[in-house]
Amino acid sequence: MRVALFALGGTISVAGGTPRLTGEQITAQVPGLDGLGAHIDVQDVRAVPSSGLTFTDVLDVVAAASRAVAEGAAGAVVTQGTDTLEETAFLADLVWPHAEPLVLTGAMRNTSLAGADGPANVLAAVRVAIAPEARGLGALVAFNDQVHAARRVRKTHSTSTATFRSPDTGPLGHVVEDRVRILTVPPRHEPLPYRPDPQRLAANRVAVYTAVLDDDGTLVDDLARGRQGLVVAGFGVGHVAGALAPRLGALADRIPVVLTSRTGGGSVLRDTYRSPGSETDLLSRGLIDGGMLDPWKARVLLRLLLAGGAGRDVIAAAFAVRG
Ligand code: ASP
Repeated sequence: MRVALFALGGTISVAGGTPRLTGEQITAQVPGLDGLGAHIDVQDVRAVPSSGLTFTDVLDVVAAASRAVAEGAAGAVVTQGTDTLEETAFLADLVWPHAEPLVLTGAMRNTSLAGADGPANVLAAVRVAIAPEARGLGALVAFNDQVHAARRVRKTHSTSTATFRSPDTGPLGHVVEDRVRILTVPPRHEPLPYRPDPQRLAANRVAVYTAVLDDDGTLVDDLARGRQGLVVAGFGVGHVAGALAPRLGALADRIPVVLTSRTGGGSVLRDTYRSPGSETDLLSRGLIDGGMLDPWKARVLLRLLLAGGAGRDVIAAAFAVRG
């Protein structure tokens, strides 16, 4: 049995303060990996903090992992920094076409620290990658012996090794000794057909605007200038200050504007509040309902769709299914 492992940097590869350990060095530190009966094909892709990763990096890794799976690998593992892992995992999930698991992991403590968690996370990720139970679940995050759906997972703490949580659903399952216990199977959607190249991605940028207290609304036009899409991280169920609503409506006439919640859990509403700046006001002005996607994941979906050439109706339909 083979597993393809792609190393992209992050804390799991940090030595002396910078990401520099190779995939071979990372896997060499994992007790018990040899005993899994899986041959790990390691590829060093990048050695960067995850703040430096790009959509193209992720799509290239997905393509390489796809080739590995097509050539017989049981699954694929990606090691990277935790800071952007909730976004990269979701992007990978949107386009991953295989039943074989694509499993992302990392570490919160580098190898020079007591209680470094990288080795345990790699072991768990490989266990998940080869587990029959994990087939058909898309891209997964294996961390702290939990298994999360890419679509739901968030980094929720700046230092805790239990940082990854799925606030709306909880983890899909757990790694218990040598077993992968999947307790919940999420609905899967058809993979999106978009594989935009770097130029199309560069030409399609999406900003995130966060609603804040006492906002006169004057910042949003500057923020949206030169952008092809905008995600609004609204208060609560998808609200903004009333002064902002006409500006967002005018933007929505020009570019797709997606409404999400800045709360970190739950959905935006569609039909409950009626004040200026409420969800009904904003949706009636042409904003797109982001559903249960948080602002960061909504931005990933919107940028992928735009870079793939999708128009407003296709975008709205995609959010209706995946939001
Ligand atoms: N700053 C690091 C990164 O995302 C954090 C981590 O890996 O946990 O690369």
